[in-house]
Formats: sequence, structure tokens, C-alpha cells
Amino acid sequence: MALPRLGDLLAQGLRGQRVLVRADLNVPLRGSRVADDSRIRASLPTLERLLGAGARVIVISHLGRPKGRRLPEFSLRPLAPRLAELLGTGISFRGECIGPVAAEAVEELGPGQILLLENLRYHAGEEANDPDFARALASLADAYVNDAFGTAHRAHGSTVGVPALVGRRAAGELLAAELEHLEAVRRPERPLLVILGGAKVSDKLAVLEALAPHADTLAIGGAMAYTFLMARGEPHGDSLVEPERVEDARRVTRAARDSGRRLLLPVDHLVADRIGEDAATQIVRQIPDGWKAVDIGPETAALYAKEARAARTVFWNGPMGVFEVERFARGTETVARAVAESGGVTVVGGGDSLAAVNAAGVAGRITHLSTGGGASLEYVQGLTLPGVAALER
Ligand code: AMP
Repeated sequence: MALPRLGDLLAQGLRGQRVLVRADLNVPLRGSRVADDSRIRASLPTLERLLGAGARVIVISHLGRPKGRRLPEFSLRPLAPRLAELLGTGISFRGECIGPVAAEAVEELGPGQILLLENLRYHAGEEANDPDFARALASLADAYVNDAFGTAHRAHGSTVGVPALVGRRAAGELLAAELEHLEAVRRPERPLLVILGGAKVSDKLAVLEALAPHADTLAIGGAMAYTFLMARGEPHGDSLVEPERVEDARRVTRAARDSGRRLLLPVDHLVADRIGEDAATQIVRQIPDGWKAVDIGPETAALYAKEARAARTVFWNGPMGVFEVERFARGTETVARAVAESGGVTVVGGGDSLAAVNAAGVAGRITHLSTGGGASLEYVQGLTLPGVAALER
């Protein structure tokens, strides 16, 4: 079945109907203040359309990892005023997401009004996809909309349990847009350049294996690259490596070669004697003993940038070095600018890469900034996202 769209649901008429919206409001908080409201903003189009149609809108989300405990630092309460401000309307909040407290608040909700319920993960049943928990949530709703792309790769109560119980359901605007843009990476205009960075081969092994034969060029940066260099028998000094992943790195390298694709590794490196702003550093082609590589070198950055200009489609996830340290951020910054300057379709995912794109002031020149790092990696691998499959069933 094709993905049911919000427009189809709206066409059925939702005036006065209770619509349960699974949003991704997992925003960073500083004390009880919203530190970055990007995810709240990203969920506005769906909420605005539903409110405009006179639906009674009930918003549910998780925040952080309270693991079934009612920890006050993970409350969604501080989000209510920000959401109200952005929507330009009043909003009710209840400190529970199921049971009589939630049901009563839903009863009080009029057409075109909105209610935010408390963190789903205060209940262990959410992550366990417990049938009773899903039933309790579903009992609040006449229709269900999933707009939480960032958790679509998790089979949780609110993403998989509820849609199995609510017949009238649809993907929200954000979820649909994410899938559409990531489809451009699955079925790319070629050449497709994939730039992957980050700390560990083990975290990205599945995506490396899936994309090595798919991408015309796979450019690797971050600490991951040094396990690949180790697999080639090149020196890695004190760089972060995973010796137990060397065999995997060889297999990925072979998979690229056997499919006639290119796998690029750094040709020069910024090495440091330790991690920190006051470290001694040098640019080298071979990593000396006692030094750790903390960023791709300028030649590598220029090489990856040239690839980005030549590509028709670019997908980037993961930093090129320890970019949290200002002096080790040039490689990641250069890649961020290069992706923005590529004339092709560009998709960037992962919190660190998004932060780099924002810091470089080039966010507006990227075709699509994915709100879900993990979900976007799974989707471009060709995997079925449980939250999407549950809507389609
Ligand atoms: P990930 O969560 O796998 O995307 O990895 C992101 C983390 O990898 C960031 O916190 C970076 O500081 C770290 N990282 C990237 N390159 C290196 C490197 N060369 N050495 C150590 N850590 C790195």
C-alpha cells in the first residue's frame, strides 16, 4: 500500500474529530528553557493544517531517555509555551499521556484546539511497544498522524502499536517530505557522492556496507577513516581505531571495488599530541607514532569538496574530525561549505553535520536537512522503517 497522506485524511473531513499526532519534539532543553526549537518548527505545518481543518489536535512525543521513569528534567511542559507562541494560539498541557487525566483533557478540547500530553517515555510501554499502552493511546483518537521521522526507525507503542489500532491514519507533512528527499538518495541522479564521518566503523557498518556498492563515490572521514587506513596497512599512530573492525573495513573496501565504485580515504591529516585547544598540531601525509589524527587535512578537504562539486546527488552524515574543538573543525567546515556549493541535490543528516552546516551559515543552501540522523541512515540503506510500514499496512 502507498503511504497514506495527510491531504487524503483531510479530504475525509476532520472537523471535531480527535486527531492524535505523534510528533518528534525531542528538543534540547537548558534547564526548563527550549535551547533549540528546530524540531518544534519542523512539526508546525502538520499541526497548522489540522487546526485549520477544525480537528481536535492531541500532540504526543518523547523527550530524551527517561526509560519509563517520571523524571522531571524530561517533561514536555516547557515546550507548551513555545509551541503556543509559534502556532499563535493557546495550548493545553497535561502531565500524563494516557488514562483519565488525558481522556478528560481530550473531552474538553474543542474543534481547532490543541493539547500537548506528557512524555511518552515516562511509560516503559512506549519503547516496549506494549499492547495495553498502545490501546490506551489509541482510545484517545479518531484518527492518527505520524510526523515523527526521527523515531520512524523504532517499533514503539506510539509509532507502530497505535497505527495498527487506528484505521484512519496518515503520514504528516514532515515525515512525507523526509521520505521524498531521502528517496533521491536511494534512487539518485548520478554521480552520487556519499560522505560519511564519525567516530566508529561499528556504528556505521550497516550503512557502509549498503552504500559502498550503491554510491559512485564513498568518501570517508572522521575516526572511522583510520580503521580503514589500518586495514590497508598504513600507519595510524595513536588515532582512534577499532582493530576488531579491520576485517569489516576490508570487506567494505572490496564491495566498493567489485562494484566498480570508488572509496576515498584521507590523503593528509591534522594530527595532534592530544585532544584540546592547546594541543600541538601538524599537517602530515603519514600519521607519526605518538600522534593522533583529529581532522582530515586541507588536501583531503579540497579533494572531497571537488567531488561534491562534480556530484549530481550528495548525502552527508557525520563529522570529518573532532569538530567540537574549534581548531579541529576546518575539515568538517570545508565539507559543509562544499556540500552547500554543490549544484546537485544535497541531503544532510545527523546532529553533528546539521550543527556544522548551521555554524557555517549555509543551511539555506542545502536541499534537505534531515531531522532524523539514525532514521535517515536506515532509510538510505534501503531498510523499511517500522513507523512507515505501520502506516502503509
Ligand atoms: P558519530 O556519533 O559516530 O557520528 O561520531 C561523532 C563524534 O566523532 C564526534 O563527537 C567527533 O568528535 C568524533 N570524531 C570524529 N573524528 C574523530 C577523530 N579523528 N578522533 C576522535 N574522535 C573523532
